[in-house]
Amino acid sequence: MSSLIGPDEELLVLRNGVYGERIEAIAQAHGIPYHVLDQPWTAPQDPAALAKALDAHPRVGVVAGVVHETTTGLLNPIKDLGEVCRSRGKTFLVDAISAIAGEELDLSWGVDAVVGTANKCIRGLPGMSFVLAREELMAKAAAYPPRTLYLHLPAYHAKQEADSTPFTPAIQAAYALEVALRELLAEGVGARVERMGHVAALLRRGCTELGLELYLDEAYLSRTITTYRLPKGWSYEALHDALRAAGFVIYAGQGDLRQQAFRVCNMGVMSDADYERFIDALKQALVVGPVGASA
Ligand SMILES: *Cc1c(COP(=O)(O)O)cnc(C)c1O
Repeated sequence: MSSLIGPDEELLVLRNGVYGERIEAIAQAHGIPYHVLDQPWTAPQDPAALAKALDAHPRVGVVAGVVHETTTGLLNPIKDLGEVCRSRGKTFLVDAISAIAGEELDLSWGVDAVVGTANKCIRGLPGMSFVLAREELMAKAAAYPPRTLYLHLPAYHAKQEADSTPFTPAIQAAYALEVALRELLAEGVGARVERMGHVAALLRRGCTELGLELYLDEAYLSRTITTYRLPKGWSYEALHDALRAAGFVIYAGQGDLRQQAFRVCNMGVMSDADYERFIDALKQALVVGPVGASA
């Protein structure tokens, strides 16, 4: 964002979760003028609303949004949003950090730049991030005055073309990323995405059978994160501790959701049997009930 938004361009932020809020915070940090298109955390971004917002704010040159809102496990309709951006000649930047190698994503969808990291569905170590950007956009950005010295993307691109880096890279994380990418390509990106869908379905079937309630409409769910309402009588902490004792770690809901919901992630290397053991552990916990609660 600091590199790919022109000095005279305004930004439109698509916000329906914590990571959309973060895009806004980045715009604020860099003094980038922006507008926000809001949806509730339970609703995907709406292409018709995007078209309307672009009509209302003609100075907007760049739209930025999140593919998979990790806050809730919601998938935004990037293909349709990208179509609106392309048809109006707007640059479309997407945060695909929790989506790359976990969801279908195609650069032909009107997307101009994608940011990802090593450490989610790609299964590398934290410490490396990357941007896939169109050459034309990178060439345009090379003429923008840098907003940051260390994170100015055209500088990385220029050095990359010369087989180098502008600053000392996190070499150990880069080697781990290379191995992770080799593993990903050996498995096949499509096969990994499919595998994520398979284990998510396994997990969700088990949770439904235990009577857990989805936080989102099923139609909006990603393949890797599921948010459930906390079962009656349970705090997040009590459920976390009961599952932790059985060898599983769940995530709290983000922000205000912490008191109402928990998240289960199925991104890593786990077998079908591991998911069955998780469902068993959850069933056991629900039978026993929260520690300290009276029967
Ligand atoms: C994980 C994630 C990030 C990066 O968050 P960190 O606080 O650096 O871990 C950004 N966007 C999305 C959608 C994410 O899931």
